Amino acid sequence: MSPVNESLIRDVVSEVLGRLGGTSTATSTPARNGSAPAPAAAPAVVSAAAPAPAASNAHCGCSAKKASSVDVPLRGKYGVFATAEEACVAAQEAFQQLRQKGVAARRKIEEIVKSLAEKNAESWGKLEFDETKIGRLDHKIAKLHLIKLVPGVDWLRPDARSGDHGITLEEYTPFGVVGAITPSTHSIPTMSGNIVNIASAGNSMVFNAHPSAARCAATAIRAYNEAIYRETGIENIATIIEQPTLDSFNALCKNELVRLLLVTGGPAVVKAAMQSGKRAICAGPGNPPVFVDDTCCLTRAAKAIITGGAFDNNLLCIGEKEVFALDQIADKLMERLAENGAVRLNAAELERLTKAAFTFKEGQGGGCSQASVNRDFIGKDPSVLAQAAGINLPPNTQILFAETAADHPFVYEEQMMPFLPIVRVKSVDEGIEQSLIAEHNYKHTAIIHSHDVETITAMARALDTTLFVKNGASPAGLGLGGEGYLSFSIATPTGEGITNPRTFTRVRRCVMVDNLRIY
Ligand code: NAD
Repeated sequence: MSPVNESLIRDVVSEVLGRLGGTSTATSTPARNGSAPAPAAAPAVVSAAAPAPAASNAHCGCSAKKASSVDVPLRGKYGVFATAEEACVAAQEAFQQLRQKGVAARRKIEEIVKSLAEKNAESWGKLEFDETKIGRLDHKIAKLHLIKLVPGVDWLRPDARSGDHGITLEEYTPFGVVGAITPSTHSIPTMSGNIVNIASAGNSMVFNAHPSAARCAATAIRAYNEAIYRETGIENIATIIEQPTLDSFNALCKNELVRLLLVTGGPAVVKAAMQSGKRAICAGPGNPPVFVDDTCCLTRAAKAIITGGAFDNNLLCIGEKEVFALDQIADKLMERLAENGAVRLNAAELERLTKAAFTFKEGQGGGCSQASVNRDFIGKDPSVLAQAAGINLPPNTQILFAETAADHPFVYEEQMMPFLPIVRVKSVDEGIEQSLIAEHNYKHTAIIHSHDVETITAMARALDTTLFVKNGASPAGLGLGGEGYLSFSIATPTGEGITNPRTFTRVRRCVMVDNLRIY
């Protein structure tokens, strides 16, 4: 493009944005050839009123005006805002900035988030551990080192068709502002992976973190925004509500600037998001069963079950939560578990632990008592569970286990503790059937240890889960020890699967009739 054309276009864009009342960043140096634009003035000293809403709906002055009518000082906040309304207005402005600064800026954001997660893994892992007091410090740190495996800008490849009538291009384009809800179990990792996915697709976002893991999330988002602003001039690409509540969740869902929701959490938040009226991508709960038959290597199976089930004290939604073992190998499997870092509880010890780890409310479930998990035990160390069971543990114990019936609360509740119930089954059919019941049709994750392809196929078909791992630990399903890519948000009830940048795009088609096919 000639310099004349380029400056003409910039002037036109500037004028159009001016008429719409948006911030005209069109005159700032465009990011070209991968280089970031010069940063704007120091943010701390500037306090600006909120810009007008998105160009697409600004002309009518109705809903969008309402949504952004708060007078928000956007500058110098580095993404951390008191209310959902402010956070949404700031994110909307950032979306417009990102739109103008192009793919180079998206790449820069991806690079910044990945490198800061890596650089700060130790300190942020500790911050999150100290705030939430759940999981394991070494695994909190490990999860931040994994952000580099989250797919980014390169994931978005347009689809093209070429034929006698010309060419057609389908492109993956952004929505705008995405509202994202994150869990207590992995606050900074989920948020960081979500930023990579969502911003790589050209969107901005607003986070409502879990109240018990919000301070660490705000610290990380501030650091990300500072670096992103310094390198690209874009402010507030990912914003967060400083003190999240159910009210701020509702305000986020209702805000008209929010085009799409991403929810990572348990059944209540999934239900709330689905009832919000917004399109919601839901990474919901799991209760992954493991089935072990008599054809597999039991040592390998035991090691894999411990690796997956003990990771971060079993906080992962994909983590092994209950094991069904064929009767003829069940004793051997338990021996292999005990030889590889797991400690077995006897019946009395199991009973003591069960009484401590669950509360039983009478009258639920048609008159039967129904267990609910005691949150004081979620994600706690094996030693805490052992104390409740009345035993001392050898050092380096990874996880506890005991033989239970199939209808034990440790089997049917998503317990998120370093404990595995082992259930004996008489046949492959029974193992698959019990696995299906325990999974509750969440369609999340299931694991099998078997070398019989018919058994593997039968279980895969019956459980119909988003992730199905064969002969490995559950994290292999996220590319850790298996092939594939990583996300901490696995969209299960809504079906998008392991989220990636494409999950957060609108598919748009552009058609050239009769021309540009070059052969
Ligand atoms: P949680 O459901 O208690 O909280 C998750 C988020 O939802 C938090 O931000 C919380 O504040 C919010 N929330 C909870 N109830 C709400 C309601 N009624 N209305 C509005 N917001 C609400 O879950 P948690 O204990 O933080 O995380 C563990 C759960 O998340 C488990 O069920 C686990 O399986 C699931 N999870 C799923 C994935 C996945 O990728 N599918 C990933 C991580 C965790």
